[in-house]
Amino acid sequence: MQEKNKEYTCPMHPEVLQHKPGNCPKCGMALVGTDKGAHVGHEEQKGKVHDHTEHHRMMAKDFKRRFFVVLPLTIIVLILSPKIQEWLGFSVDFAFRNFVLFVLGTVITAYGGKPFFEAAKNEIKSRNWGMMTLVSLALTAGYVFSIAATFLFPGESLWWEISTLVSVFLFGHWLEMRAVIGTGGALKELAALIPPMAHKVIWDKNEKKIGEEEVEDIPTDKLQKGDYVLVRPGEKIPIDGEIVQGESSVNEAMITGESKPVAKKEGDVVIGGSINNDGSLVVRVDKTGAETAVSQIMKLIRQAQETKPKVQNLADKAANWLTIIAIVVGTGTFFYWLLINPQGAIFASTLAITVIVITCPHALGLAIPTVTTITTSLAAKNGILIRDMRGLEVAKNLDYVVFDKTGTLTKGQFGVAEVLAFKGLAEKDILKLAASVELHSQHSIAQGIVSEARERKIKFSAAHNFKSIPGKGAEGKVGKDIVILGNTAMLEKRGIELKVARELLKKIKDATRTVIWVARDNEVVGAISLEDEIRVESKKAINKLHEMGIKVAMLTGDKKEVADVVGKKLGIDTVFAEVLPEDKVNKVKYLQTKGFTVAMVGDGVNDAPSLTQAHLGIAVGAGTSVAIESAEIVLVKNDPRDVVKVISLSRKTDAKMKQNLAWATGYNLLAIPAAAGILYPLGILLRPEWGALLMSASSVIVVANALLLKKAEL
Ligand code: ADP
Ligand code: MG
Repeated sequence: MQEKNKEYTCPMHPEVLQHKPGNCPKCGMALVGTDKGAHVGHEEQKGKVHDHTEHHRMMAKDFKRRFFVVLPLTIIVLILSPKIQEWLGFSVDFAFRNFVLFVLGTVITAYGGKPFFEAAKNEIKSRNWGMMTLVSLALTAGYVFSIAATFLFPGESLWWEISTLVSVFLFGHWLEMRAVIGTGGALKELAALIPPMAHKVIWDKNEKKIGEEEVEDIPTDKLQKGDYVLVRPGEKIPIDGEIVQGESSVNEAMITGESKPVAKKEGDVVIGGSINNDGSLVVRVDKTGAETAVSQIMKLIRQAQETKPKVQNLADKAANWLTIIAIVVGTGTFFYWLLINPQGAIFASTLAITVIVITCPHALGLAIPTVTTITTSLAAKNGILIRDMRGLEVAKNLDYVVFDKTGTLTKGQFGVAEVLAFKGLAEKDILKLAASVELHSQHSIAQGIVSEARERKIKFSAAHNFKSIPGKGAEGKVGKDIVILGNTAMLEKRGIELKVARELLKKIKDATRTVIWVARDNEVVGAISLEDEIRVESKKAINKLHEMGIKVAMLTGDKKEVADVVGKKLGIDTVFAEVLPEDKVNKVKYLQTKGFTVAMVGDGVNDAPSLTQAHLGIAVGAGTSVAIESAEIVLVKNDPRDVVKVISLSRKTDAKMKQNLAWATGYNLLAIPAAAGILYPLGILLRPEWGALLMSASSVIVVANALLLKKAEL
């Protein structure tokens, strides 16, 4: 994409639109570059402009203005038209009537037709002849014939009524633009979530309080990291941050799609745009500008709306064919009525122009992009962020959904169930050793061990040389001792005697728990068993998937006994346990070689390769950015049922696109013969103006059909 075809806009202030990269004059945030939809027609057929609501708004305004200038002139032309006068039975005639008509017709064509001619010029330059070429061809032909009729063949009946066509085109495009704007409102809605003003306060860290007199209302975009804001009950939270004082229930539905309010207390993270229900909160600003959740979501939506589903290729091809058909049938029509069934040049050209006008593949150009725009916004409202439309397209015919176990099907919050100590050590000592090392780890098991140690008020020791071995465990130096933690594979890797461990295992009451061995100086000294809760939603999600005829697999690095129990409880078809992170991708490949269309659902960094490998990668919980980058779809919430929603949305979207394509092409099959004069023997003849109206109506129908999707229940 050439630089000059880029537009830069602020995710927080969509009204900011400039042609150079830079920062938003309103909030200073870096502007996001997007491809520019310079003109209706070709660009639009390619589905590129749909997030440019602002651009569409400008175009709608332009069409409207030109329409209202051209309309009165058109009415004068019609009043002066001898044909109309004859028809309505009155007569206005004066010396320079033809000349006046000529001037009016020229002004109408030049001024009203300008946006079309310009767009056509672009199409021709880029050798991508499309709708605007056809519209301009029709307008030019109409104009040339009118001049010919006025000056060269004074005998022919006058023909300036053709300029009505310009009004109809302008009107139609105005309506269309308005409809298209209606499909792209999601970004504005998201931006509107952020309250424009925030109550900035001075907050005393030590006293943990604010003084009411210190409240200062400032624009939200002036907030800086580290500022404190007061959020009163019932108000919207202006920005992303952490609660430093107060508790409340917060409604995050607009951002996560989760309709139930979430209880929040000191230390919890809040998202700008969510609603604070009952308590008063003091929030420390942690993210500003482009980093905030709402900005990120808006950016994702923008990007998604620029990706093209594969059906778009089909629509593009059909549109190209229609352009060719329009020119061929139009020319054929002209010569047929001129030579084979002679009715005069004016008659022949009227029909030819009608054919060209009616065949304009405008509806076809709108058929897919309007649906894409609505789908991405509808998805976002449900906490589903589509990064690539092609991913959503795949979702409709999945065979297998592979879930990562920990954190996806289970809560990923490990609770310590049992601590076993050996070699004369106490439970406390084991926990101390383990927690001191795990303090450095991000793993959910590590977090479980650390919070257990905290709960038991155990003092941590300093650990050095921390190292994590993905899929196996972690190690570190505590004092002089090398402490090794992890599963059996971890012990094997470090050459630690397993016999003791095996003996110990018998003592652990529940074999279906995750067990972490604790070894000190190459000797197993204890074990910690942990439990992770299965999400209640998991079972429901899997049942639904089965109802849809989709099989479910589970992928985990956890031991087989644990995996099997979870698998059984959830009714999972295929369980892959004890899979090393680097092997996860092979399991996905394995299912693919069996001919299945596979979706992978995961959250962790180590899921990234398998998310990429799968036909459809779904990252859960907008947490790890690596996972998000590798996925086509991101689920904001940690709810496996949203996978079902993705599939349902995919199927609905597909149906809409097909309906639109069918309508946009089918309409032509009926309209072209009628325009070519097939019904003339029955006395039915389409005027070019009627053709233009029909064409516009057909586009509006396509847009309206897409809009119906807005109401869909997922
Ligand atoms: P999952 O695929 O379920 O997300 P991982 O691949 O992250 O699991 O981890 C697999 C196994 O490796 C865990 O069940 C645990 O036994 C061990 N493990 C990984 N990291 C750690 C750690 N920091 N501390 C202890 N054990 C760990
Ligand atoms: Mg995981």
